[in-house]
Amino acid sequence: MKKNIVILGSTGSIGRQALEVVGWHNSDLQVLGIAAQRNIDLLEEQAKTFGVPYVAVEDKDAALELEHRLQGSNTRCLAGTDGILELVRIPDVDLILIAVSGLGGLLPTLEAITHNKQIALANKETLVAGGSLVTEAALKKGIRIIPVDSEHSAIFQCLEDTADVEKLLITASGGPFREMPVDQLKKITPEMALRHPTWQMGDKITIDSATLMNKGLEIIEARWLFGIDYDRIEAVIHPQSIIHSLVAYKDGAVLAQLGWPDMRVPIQYAFFYPERKRNNLHPLDLVQVGQLSFETPDLGRFPCLRLAREAGKIGGTMTAVLNAANEVAVQAFLGHKIAFNAISELVDEVMNLHNLKTGKLDLDDILEADRWARECTRQLINQQSKK
Ligand code: NDP
Ligand code: MG
Repeated sequence: MKKNIVILGSTGSIGRQALEVVGWHNSDLQVLGIAAQRNIDLLEEQAKTFGVPYVAVEDKDAALELEHRLQGSNTRCLAGTDGILELVRIPDVDLILIAVSGLGGLLPTLEAITHNKQIALANKETLVAGGSLVTEAALKKGIRIIPVDSEHSAIFQCLEDTADVEKLLITASGGPFREMPVDQLKKITPEMALRHPTWQMGDKITIDSATLMNKGLEIIEARWLFGIDYDRIEAVIHPQSIIHSLVAYKDGAVLAQLGWPDMRVPIQYAFFYPERKRNNLHPLDLVQVGQLSFETPDLGRFPCLRLAREAGKIGGTMTAVLNAANEVAVQAFLGHKIAFNAISELVDEVMNLHNLKTGKLDLDDILEADRWARECTRQLINQQSKK
């Protein structure tokens, strides 16, 4: 029997690679739904190619246009956030890949859990902002979240009994500015930052990789996925991106997962877990790789990594604030409104201004902290541009 899947964010970097994986295994997988924000040209093409019965478009105007184009076809178009949630609730769906970018992943993830769907989670912002809420809900329902983020997929694959774990070691390529003199960092343009040395990804995560915020978000993501406290999660720079992460055990053994940097591997793993399927990807050739090297991250050069760890340790609404401030700052940087180093400065400032809420958080607490932090960051950016 085929596994029925839904892909949220099908037009993005992860979404497109996920559909490639579906194409390799079309006798085992059926796509029942796809969703995006507004790229209806690609959604329409994907719906046709994969015979998808439901598409959802977050932008309501774009949804209307697609609905018009799909008249007379076998594909139904759903609109807005409600449409995306409706897609998640389709009764026959077995697994949902959450590959939207930013906090847009939070509501669909919670909806998927409520409706007992298996989740393959690429979207780390969901766990950064709402980690306690999401993991508690999943635990209550007995739903296992299968990570797609390569580092977390690696840890998931290497993890035996968490009681025996000494440390999680999350590897980072170090991004394109690992060796740039610190005084040059403010001159970095979006075009320079979008050239990642080892991974091809969406714009937001590529900038996060250049500031190392991505690694900070991943530390928080790991804390929630694996229930390991922050003092036992370390980031290590590994420029070749061959080791995707490691688990150190109390007896001194360290287990690692290796492979070419290719997101289709963790995507396929999450689709078929616990089974492994053959594909046509090039096997890893260690002699061709030659050398694997490691360094300690430079926290002076990359303050975002420090800020994320701090936010994680503070807890409560602070990680939602970190995430929201970062999302707004990254968009402003991509729009040439602020300098590269202003991203970390803004996140720092917004965290300092935040009125923290701790204890048991509900969805409203998280959404309110997110809304406040976005507004605060925008105001700070406007004030700066007036100076
Ligand atoms: P992209 O920017 O390439 O794609 C984002 C996708 O999400 C697009 O399909 C976009 O639609 C859709 N989208 C954005 N916002 C919404 C929304 N509110 N509602 C519905 N759809 C939305 O991102 P990536 O694929 O690079 O990343 C996706 C997620 O996976 C991120 O959270 C990222 O951190 C994570 N991730 C990505 C990796 C990678 O290699 N790319 C690696 C590990 C994790 P549209 O095209 O219409 O704008
Ligand atoms: Mg990653």
